[in-house]
Formats: sequence, C-alpha cells, structure tokens
Amino acid sequence: MRRRVLPALLALAGCASPVPPPSLAVPVATAAVAAAEMAVPAAAPSVAPPTASGDMIFDAWASEFQGRALAAGIRPEVLSREMAGLTPDPRVAGLDSRQPEFSKPISEYLKGVVTADRITIGARRAADTPMIGDIEQRFGVPKQILMGVWAMESGFGAIQGDLDTVRSLATLAAQGRRRPWAEGELIATLQIIQSGEFTRSRLRGSWAGAMGQTQFIPTTFLSTAVDEDGDGKRDIWGSSTDALASAANLLAKAGWVRGQGWAREVTAPAGFDFGLTESVSELPAWWAAKGVRPADGKPWSAADATAKAQLIAPTGANGPLFLLLPNHFAIRKYNNSIAYALGVGLLADRVAGASPLVKAWPLETPLSLVDRMTAQRALTALGFNPGGSDGVVGMGTRKALREWQKARGITADGYLSSDMVRRLKAEADAA
Ligand code: CA
Repeated sequence: MRRRVLPALLALAGCASPVPPPSLAVPVATAAVAAAEMAVPAAAPSVAPPTASGDMIFDAWASEFQGRALAAGIRPEVLSREMAGLTPDPRVAGLDSRQPEFSKPISEYLKGVVTADRITIGARRAADTPMIGDIEQRFGVPKQILMGVWAMESGFGAIQGDLDTVRSLATLAAQGRRRPWAEGELIATLQIIQSGEFTRSRLRGSWAGAMGQTQFIPTTFLSTAVDEDGDGKRDIWGSSTDALASAANLLAKAGWVRGQGWAREVTAPAGFDFGLTESVSELPAWWAAKGVRPADGKPWSAADATAKAQLIAPTGANGPLFLLLPNHFAIRKYNNSIAYALGVGLLADRVAGASPLVKAWPLETPLSLVDRMTAQRALTALGFNPGGSDGVVGMGTRKALREWQKARGITADGYLSSDMVRRLKAEADAA
C-alpha cells in the first residue's frame, strides 16, 4: 500500500492506485465542497435513523456523519436513501490495514510496468482512440504520456475496480485512520449522485475510492473530469475519450509544460559527486559542464535545453541515471511517487518509439521492513538524521544516507542497498 509521503521506492504492489495519492488526497475542502457548504438548509432537517449494520463502530460513525453531510449540503432524502442499509465492506477494511513485509524494488516494479504488451497496446490505442489528437492539442499533453497514465491506472480501462465507492469510503471513514479524508471523499461522492450526473450504481472503483479508467477519487472527479465527447456526462468509466481528456486536464492543471519532455536518461563521469542527486535543479548545460550527458548521445531538444532538471539515481550510481524535467513533477501530481512517474514516462517513451534504457537496471535485493528501520536507527545513532525510523525510505532517509556516505568516503548516491544496511548496522553496533 502506498504511503502518504514521498518515498516512492516502496510498497508498490499492483498497477492501479492502491491508496489515494497524497497530492489528490489533500484538497478535501475543494471548491465544490466549499460551494456546497454555502447551501446548508435553513431548517435542521430530520433524517431517518442511520443504518443498523450490526457493527457498532460503523453505526456510531454513520450516525455522526449524517450531520456533517447535511451541513455540507447533501439533501436529507439523498442521504437517507444512500445510507440506508449500508454496511462496512470487509474487503476494504482488510486492504487498508495491510502492511507488506517486503517492499518491491523499483527495478522490479518498472520491469513489470514497461512490458512489450503494454508498449504494443499503448501504440495501438494512441492511434485509434477517438479525439486523441484534439485532446493533445487542447491540453498540450502528448498522447503517449496519456497512454502511460492509462496503462498504470487501469490497464487501458480494463481494470477499474468494481466496489461501490460509497461503501468503500464509508468503511474507510468509520475505521478512523483517515476519517477526514474519507468523509470529504464520501461527501463528494454524494454530491455527484445528488447532481444527477451519475447514479450510485455507476460510481464504482477501487477499495480506496479511486474510480474509472483514470482512477480519480471523487473530489478529483468533481474538480477535474471533462466531458470531451460532448454527451453531457463526464464518463471516466465508459468513455475512453472522456477519461483521457480528464487525465490530460489533471496534468495540465498540475503544470505540464507543452512541448517539453519529462526526463532524459543520462550518464555521469567517473568521480562524479552523487551528492548532487535529488538536490539542485539546473539547466542541461550546467549538468553537461559536470559531465552529465544524455545516455543515447543525442542532443537536448531546444525546449528541453531551457528546462531546469534534477538528477536522480533510483538504484544508485551503478544503475540508470535520469535528469528529471518539470513535467516529471506534473506526473507526480497524479501520484506522488518517483517510481510511478518513472513508469508513466518510460512507458510513454517506448510507446513513442524510443529505444530501451541504455543502462540496464541492476539486480536489487529486496529489503525487509526490519532492514530499513535498522538502517534508519543506525543513521540516527551516528548523527545523520533520517527524520524517523518508520521503515519508509523517503527523501529524508536518502539525504541522511548521502551525508553518511560522503563522510565515510563512499559514493554518495543515497541508495540503500543491503550492503549499506550491513555497514550502517556494523558501525552503529560498534559505536
Ligand atoms: Ca462524455
């Protein structure tokens, strides 16, 4: 399951968004919700008693939630109808509490993302999806990038999830761990139903409330979905054209720069200071002066040459290196994970006819939760603050690791290999 932080290299089971990405999850109080709050009925309406599901925690939550939903402008009859007979979904409850023991290495994840099948299907759908050229023109996002998103989110629309979004979000809200977020999304779901755009039977999706071919959570649907085919409904479930225009709209709103790429694979010279990874953003010419150049030997495009770029080494100094352009960070607004954004971009490049990466992904040893926490505790004990020891290897941990590596004369790539875990533990134990 995906965490609400930047780590990205962790916990990437499956292709469609398993957990609402933080960037989409934050704006619980969207404009739509705010507008609805203005529309509180004058008299306090009476609502039929909430569901009696037999689950005391769920029923207690449902009872309290009614008042908040009414205050947010959900009409009593809509609320009564949709809450009647509602019970928690045990499948959702089980998935939300799942904590995988091993995280999937990013190389393994990406090999599963950029497959020959997906490249073939992506190329075909990029050619035959109705209005795809209009979508590219209107939003400025290349169709290949949209194919990458579409593949990752729902296997080109094939895997959308078939759970009742109202029930999934009610279950998550009642569990309490992410209650404000889940309630905001549930209210947005009820607003969609109340608006008449779709009935509840259409609002199906993943256990985490992500719906349709784009896997939009309900607030994102309200703010960002687009009726591109002009039938009057933003049908991200049944219309590939609407779905892809909606995804393009999300990326455009996230700052997608028309005409620029998203990243380039690069090489760095011997003795390069890998402490520069994940830190500075500089023009390709600045990087070239340090010997960092496109791995395929081809020049930068005129548009990309004007973009500030950040270097990453996802599997360390010995794996493929990338200069990330601003569009990488637009993809991260869809799902705030480096691995996800690399998956979308690398798949898009292949759909567009690019060659595979010049440098092969190295073989990575999966690290256990204990390994990761051990490394974080050792860094803390040795005076390099990773910002906690939760087992999530995020930017803070990688930065602390780079500083420790630099201080010890090791290539400072911030990559937590099993060897680094062993050395950190040995040094901390001896201290
Ligand atoms: Ca439509």
